[in-house]
Amino acid sequence: MSAPFDEKERFARLEEMGLTPLWRLRTRLQPGSGAGEEQEAQKKASAGVAPPGRAPEAPRKKPAAAAAVPAPAKERSEARPPRASSEPVGRSPALHPVSAASGTPAASPSARTIDPERAARIATLDWEALEAEIRACSACTLHRTRTQAVTGVGNRQARWMFVGEGPGREEDRRGEPFVGPAGKLLDAMLFALRLDRTQVYIANAVKCRPPDNRTPTPEEIAACAPFLFRQIELVRPKVLVALGRPAAFALLNEEIKIAQARGRIFRYGEIPVVVTYHPAYLLRNPADKAKAWEDLCRAQALVEGKD
Ligand code: SF4
Repeated sequence: MSAPFDEKERFARLEEMGLTPLWRLRTRLQPGSGAGEEQEAQKKASAGVAPPGRAPEAPRKKPAAAAAVPAPAKERSEARPPRASSEPVGRSPALHPVSAASGTPAASPSARTIDPERAARIATLDWEALEAEIRACSACTLHRTRTQAVTGVGNRQARWMFVGEGPGREEDRRGEPFVGPAGKLLDAMLFALRLDRTQVYIANAVKCRPPDNRTPTPEEIAACAPFLFRQIELVRPKVLVALGRPAAFALLNEEIKIAQARGRIFRYGEIPVVVTYHPAYLLRNPADKAKAWEDLCRAQALVEGKD
């Protein structure tokens, strides 16, 4: 993997993002540095949570993936788990979800759609046609309240692909995924991995903002899934990172709890899938950033063929 940043700059950026105070220098949070929401979340976090004391160099190590999974924490979207619905969509056999545990291909609930013909057509689109179709889409009710559909961003030949839940207010306004406080944290996470947005591809399970930032419904995820699947097919990343439970649901044939799924390597066809917490959750629960870091280290090992 390339090393685009020198270490001094890297640590400075991490500290500015409010990441290193937790992972490295937790007591040095900088007011007004873009970590304000994180600081607020940290105040609200349960007192007495021991900082992990993990140095940012950890990505170069063999990840502690096999270590015992920490005690479950309530994840952002666990209160409203998505449910499977509708009919399966035909798509490339190479990219059917596979349970890592069983190795058995499974029809993902999120691979189902109310319109298989539409899904089959989307599966043939090139980038330009795909993004045009996303922007014009009205396949679910989310189009009624969006400012604009948010397609995806980043390197279309990336080795890493991150999948989030859906656009928030700022993403809806600007038309780009992960541009609010959660986006800043994601940038910091990328930076810790010596990556930036030019080296990864970022997309969401649903391309239009759910009203009031609610969790997208299974039907909305299903309606939007053909777009995500086509993006994956076009990027063909070496690893998929599912950020939060709806993203994991969009990729896998399982209704999972992130806290329980961490440490397992799932598969979307041939592509390994690492599940971890959504940055928005981490802003509210900064003590879990260390767990997210473990997950990213695991993903990095997969990208580098070390796992
Ligand atoms: S969320 Fe997806 S399926 Fe729904 S209107 Fe937007 S682009 Fe279309």
